[in-house]
Amino acid sequence: MPQQFLHDEALGPSRGAQPGDLLNHATSAFTPAASPRPSACPGLWRIVQARDGGLCRIKLPCGELRADQALAIADAAKRHTSGVIEVTNRANLQLRGVRIGEENALTGRLLDAGSGPQAPRDDHETNPIARDDIRNLMVSPLAGRDPHALFDVTALASQILSLLQDDPRFAALSPKFALMLDGGERLAMLDHPHDIWLAAVRDREDVRFAFGLAGCPPVLRTSRHAPSGAVLPHQVPALVAALLHTFLDLAAPDHSRMRDVLAAHGVTSFMEQVQTRVGFTLLDDFRVDAWRRSPANVSLRLGLHPQDSVNLSYAGAQPALGRLDFKTLEALAQLAIDARTATLRLTPWQGVIVPDIPHDNAPQVLKRLESIGLVTDAANPLARVIACAGSQGCVKGNADTKGDGLLLAARLPAGVDVHLSGCPRSCAAAHCASWTLLAVAPARYDLFRRDGSPGSGVPVARNLTIDQAADTLERLTRSSFDA
Ligand code: SF4
Repeated sequence: MPQQFLHDEALGPSRGAQPGDLLNHATSAFTPAASPRPSACPGLWRIVQARDGGLCRIKLPCGELRADQALAIADAAKRHTSGVIEVTNRANLQLRGVRIGEENALTGRLLDAGSGPQAPRDDHETNPIARDDIRNLMVSPLAGRDPHALFDVTALASQILSLLQDDPRFAALSPKFALMLDGGERLAMLDHPHDIWLAAVRDREDVRFAFGLAGCPPVLRTSRHAPSGAVLPHQVPALVAALLHTFLDLAAPDHSRMRDVLAAHGVTSFMEQVQTRVGFTLLDDFRVDAWRRSPANVSLRLGLHPQDSVNLSYAGAQPALGRLDFKTLEALAQLAIDARTATLRLTPWQGVIVPDIPHDNAPQVLKRLESIGLVTDAANPLARVIACAGSQGCVKGNADTKGDGLLLAARLPAGVDVHLSGCPRSCAAAHCASWTLLAVAPARYDLFRRDGSPGSGVPVARNLTIDQAADTLERLTRSSFDA
């Protein structure tokens, strides 16, 4: 049966690249066959049609993007797409407007640039698409570079990525199935729910990894996401394998996410099965029930910050509404090369970090980031607005959220964060933002305020224009500051 490549933003199956199309691609190391489960998610091979053309997602291991790779991606975008590039909220890149008939050429160029899964399993690889799909491991953009972290997770992250890619059984996981590995860095995205999360915890002189299912590390005392247990760092890969195998053992055909399996079987029963798969005790003498993670400081995603106490800084920036063009990506890559770091780290705030800059060069790097049009200051309203593709790029969009987001930014009250969503699917934010404007018609939005409930929050006003939304936000936030 042919696969249907329908993305949330899709118009229909792409007339371009299909899983078998690269069989004859001379420069590809792979010989792809059909993915075992149809998916709506765009990928390197699965280019789905959106209103503004094909959509191709490039998964970056732990958000890391080498400068040479960035140059190659910019070149591929220039040749085969409209040139619009997005940083996603999982620290990946996606190329929009892939031209019909050029999908194979694009995928081939991206593979040549090293953007696919790590080295193929063997010469007769049959399913690199699935291996590409499941590389969903989020770490802090400062992983391995934050002296305040409890644990440098870079080696563990690499082991988990290899595990995901190399066990053929894990190809059955949904492309949306996601893991998080948290070393306790000061900069971390703690709002995205993950199917599996692991977080470093100080235990006297040692570090353990608390872990949980279908949620995120608990920060508040009242958090609903208590850890399910804790293990030693060297036990993490075996634990992850056991969790994934248990998930696949129990998942019914319509269960794609951990929450589905837990709803059917319960956490206790699930964890009992996990315990039988590992040769160590999952809770041991360390009780994690009361553990809460230190809050992250998301303002560290922008501007200049010391990376260590000796000589290095990093600079954080973001393109307005998560979008850049191929020229900006080229400029970013060149900046990283000139700064002698030659690497970039993308962030789940749809931004980028230039790491490892000698202190003396750091102000110059920040100026260059600003000169190529990136936002580097958290006070800039463009740092506080996120928006999905909206009606310009997505058939489900009720309004031009990108255009309206720019209009709103010009009038946004200080300290207010807003998410504009073209429909209730909320593609641009995996978490509930402080304020959500949900499009109901062109240039018309319902306004919601986060209140801890699932979804967009509690409705506070209906059918607002952007000017009315700005006025309402001004009034509501002023009255809450005054209170
Ligand atoms: S949230 Fe936006 S991008 Fe996602 S399906 Fe709705 S309109 Fe499309």
